[in-house]
Amino acid sequence: MGLQMRPPEAAESIAKTILIVDDVPANLAVVSRHLEDHGYRAVVAQSGAEAIERAELVRPNLILLDVLMPGIDGFETCRRLKASENTRDIPVVFMTALTEAADKLAGFEAGAVDYVTKPLDGAEVRARIDTHLSLYALRRELERQNAQLREEIAAREQVQEVLQRSNIELEQLAYVASHDMQEPLRMIASYLQLVAQRYQGKLDADADEFIGFAVDGAKRMQALINDLLAYSRVGTKARPFAPTDCAAVVDTAISDLRVAIEESGAEIKCGPLPVVMADAMQFAQLFRNLLANAIKFRSTRPPQVRIEAERADAGWCFAVRDNGIGIAPEYFDRIFVLFQRLHSRREYAGTGIGLALCKKIVERHGGRIWVESVQDSGSVFRFTLPYRGHTS
Ligand code: ADP
Repeated sequence: MGLQMRPPEAAESIAKTILIVDDVPANLAVVSRHLEDHGYRAVVAQSGAEAIERAELVRPNLILLDVLMPGIDGFETCRRLKASENTRDIPVVFMTALTEAADKLAGFEAGAVDYVTKPLDGAEVRARIDTHLSLYALRRELERQNAQLREEIAAREQVQEVLQRSNIELEQLAYVASHDMQEPLRMIASYLQLVAQRYQGKLDADADEFIGFAVDGAKRMQALINDLLAYSRVGTKARPFAPTDCAAVVDTAISDLRVAIEESGAEIKCGPLPVVMADAMQFAQLFRNLLANAIKFRSTRPPQVRIEAERADAGWCFAVRDNGIGIAPEYFDRIFVLFQRLHSRREYAGTGIGLALCKKIVERHGGRIWVESVQDSGSVFRFTLPYRGHTS
């Protein structure tokens, strides 16, 4: 055997235990002394059966296993080690005098990670042992990290589930509350209007003013409840996605806004728009809100609005561009939050729900919405829609 004696290297913090299995006691003695001289702890076994027993007991870091042994041979010993829960992860390196490729393959098939050929070369044996010890350590570390990641993902999924459930509950609450408030509010508004019609100018000036405030308040409350209902309906009254012709959807939105368009003299232009997989009702609402804002937040110029769509990475990117008052960059995110408005009611009417609703619709469709704007010259509201099987 070409094993060379070398002085022991600086002992590692914990010596690695190597189980050496060979039926020839002289071989065992040489290999174990060599390894011990180099800082390993050597444990020996003289047969396959003994090797299995010792491996169960000692749990070595690696096993050097002779192939040709009386009784159960090295291949069978390896198979049995791999079949046991306690020893299956221990790397096995065969020591073999066999040079046939088929024998080496049989070793790998039995579950070995490597082999060294006899006569053994001490440096090579150590190099292979070290390689497999560090591979094993790396694998264990990876498994540990994987397990940790799996745990984190499971915990996150649990939190997400709880959040989702409470979101649904909140949505349902908002829906029921706003739905049930509609009826009494309708009564207040219509009777107030009746009082206004019947008693206008018949009481004193204060009374006229008070009735005016009350009617105005009731109307605003109605607008708020309608918008809140629409907002909660994005989740509770969602319809499945179906092929939706965006050009037709935009036409509907334009006709819904006929009065505002005529009053403001707005010019609305539309590029070619695709057919996409969407909830058509929600898409109509999305375009209606963006168009209504483009008209409402106009500057002194007559509003010019352009709607376009272009292919984006994995779907479509839509743009609604206006020449209105624009938005300062510090408000680009804030305007999509529920009830966030940049103007007083006196300047521009509104509830601050429109863009939050747009965001919710876009996100339900798997997209993202944002604004690009230059103050006093105009804004572009863009949103993406991931591809879901419709291309025209
Ligand atoms: P609302 O229109 O009821 O105020 P939105 O959620 O639709 O609520 O919009 C939030 C705010 O974003 C508006 O109050 C306005 O300040 C700003 N905004 C929205 N659209 C535009 C636009 N096209 N141009 C300029 N500002 C806009």
